[in-house]
Amino acid sequence: MMNSSYLRNIKETCVTVLDGMAITFSHLMRRPVTIQYPDRIPVRVQDTLPFRYRGILEVDLEICTGCLACERACPIDCIVIEAEKDKQTREMILRRFDIDMAKCMYCGLCSEPCPTGAIHHTPEFEGADFSLESLVRHHVKAPVPAYKVKKAGETDPAVLPLLDRGMRYIEEFAAPEAKAPAAKEGATKEGTAKEGAAG
Ligand code: SF4
Ligand code: SF4
Repeated sequence: MMNSSYLRNIKETCVTVLDGMAITFSHLMRRPVTIQYPDRIPVRVQDTLPFRYRGILEVDLEICTGCLACERACPIDCIVIEAEKDKQTREMILRRFDIDMAKCMYCGLCSEPCPTGAIHHTPEFEGADFSLESLVRHHVKAPVPAYKVKKAGETDPAVLPLLDRGMRYIEEFAAPEAKAPAAKEGATKEGTAKEGAAG
């Protein structure tokens, strides 16, 4: 009785080991499922991600009105903007636009109220760095005039693609349930209203 149970255990052990090894050896003949990251793929991973992917935040200063709506919307104060009116030109000047990506939780709340889609998530996800300080992204390198929404619609070829992208972003991501604004003209009106509210 003792001997038969002992022999059965030895047999089961051998069968189990051989089962496992059969699976292991079968993988020697297959094409690997895993791929080398990041350089052994024909297309960058970032380029395969959907438009609505919530990666690292970016700001298109060319279409930022300095309305501060994003700063106010962030629930954990990741965004710090300094914008003030130039007393002589009456132009709004952006002096600082920092986003602390170490704190950011990628919730997207800041991009929802943006009238032009200037602040938006990107497909970029590689944010590792050597210190927390370096994760604070300083988007304003030198003071720049804030974007002024044109009542007749934007015509500047340098700004138009950014505004188009921004409006697509608002329509597809930030306000998917909202009635789609009439492209740039809609942006113009909304931007004007919000800009006015921001003073
Ligand atoms: S994604 Fe969320 S946490 Fe990050 S800056 Fe925007 S509102 Fe703040
Ligand atoms: S325009 Fe957009 S990015 Fe610029 S301050 Fe207003 S909400 Fe923020």
